[in-house]
Amino acid sequence: MIKKAVYILLSECIEYQDTEVENENYLPIFKKIYSQKIVHVYIKKGVKQEVIISLLNQLDYFTDFTHTLTFLLDKNREYRLFYSLVGWFDTWHRIMPWRTTPSLYGTWVSEIMLQQTQVVTVINYYNRFMKRFPTIFDLANANENEVLLYWQGLGYYSRARNLHKCAKIVVEKYNGVFPSDIKELVKLPGIGPYTSGAIRSIGYNQKASAIDGNVTRILTRVYAYTKDSKSKEAYLFYENMLERLLIDEYSKFNQALMDLGALICKGKKPNCLLCPIEPFCDTTKLKMTEKIPMILPKKSKVVEHYNSIIYKKNNTYFIEYRAGQGMLKNMWGTLLIEGSVISYQSKLQPIKHVFTHKIWKIQPYIVDYLGESLPKGEFVKVSHFQEFPIAKAFQKIIYQIQESEGTN
Ligand code: SF4
Repeated sequence: MIKKAVYILLSECIEYQDTEVENENYLPIFKKIYSQKIVHVYIKKGVKQEVIISLLNQLDYFTDFTHTLTFLLDKNREYRLFYSLVGWFDTWHRIMPWRTTPSLYGTWVSEIMLQQTQVVTVINYYNRFMKRFPTIFDLANANENEVLLYWQGLGYYSRARNLHKCAKIVVEKYNGVFPSDIKELVKLPGIGPYTSGAIRSIGYNQKASAIDGNVTRILTRVYAYTKDSKSKEAYLFYENMLERLLIDEYSKFNQALMDLGALICKGKKPNCLLCPIEPFCDTTKLKMTEKIPMILPKKSKVVEHYNSIIYKKNNTYFIEYRAGQGMLKNMWGTLLIEGSVISYQSKLQPIKHVFTHKIWKIQPYIVDYLGESLPKGEFVKVSHFQEFPIAKAFQKIIYQIQESEGTN
């Protein structure tokens, strides 16, 4: 069977001569070939595209065709890697709501949500958020408290505040349409090099890179980059390599890198056997996938200890509005103090919350309210807690209060 297929190909449209294929209409076929790791193909000029397609379709059944044909369009490594990856992405891309109904607004919201948060977690938040704020105008017109409420549980609340501020500016200054110019984009709140790259490449299909952990992991492995992968020098290296790799279809290529990093080229135990760019990967040849990327040891996190007083008055509990600057600003939470608590009605279980750079260890107490002066906040019934954007750091305390009232 294999011989027969080779024969058909050779006799109908392929010959053993170095013949450049110049017709751009062949591009879809080339992608298909690359995605199957058939790296060498000779194609005679002037052969009809339909003939080649129908013949190549038969190759699906002949997996050991790999490497038996010679493909001549371009033997450049980056070019071949590019087409292998986008070909793989065409078939294996992840289905996500912001891809199913693509929009600039959806791309931006999803990219902000995905910072520091896993896709599986983001999907539900994204759907709920988009239902309430289906357009950037809806988001701009909402009040911040409500936006935070819809963000509640995702953490890193400065992202939500910046998202809201950014929506207002895009509506007022750009009539609701994100600028496509990088200089304008990075002036917007919450939009740094990564998000601007994602908006420009995924939203506008511009030649732009969006360098995140997935991308750096793949690049360090493909090129066996053995220096510190988080250094400025490494970042320049990523930019240089992506400049060469972003050949076409920028939106698709960047998303393909994201998916490859999430599905195949994972941090631990990459699945190189299933990797579409394995033939171009130096790290697998050197058997160093466990060692690359090189990451210098992290500094240990600062641990801060607090007591938390939850004043109780007539079956209501005091929660503070954390106005102004500092951690979790404009969010709600229980009152934190650094001093000791001498008299209390009950002592709850201590909790621990881990931030990016620090750890909070909190001992909470329920204390009868006797008219002490209080910061900005409200006495709230347990059944009304969900109406306030309470920061994740305090959720475990709130949960204990609800439990003590028998509402969980
Ligand atoms: S071959 Fe392995 S290490 Fe190399 S890019 Fe693919 S999954 Fe990553």
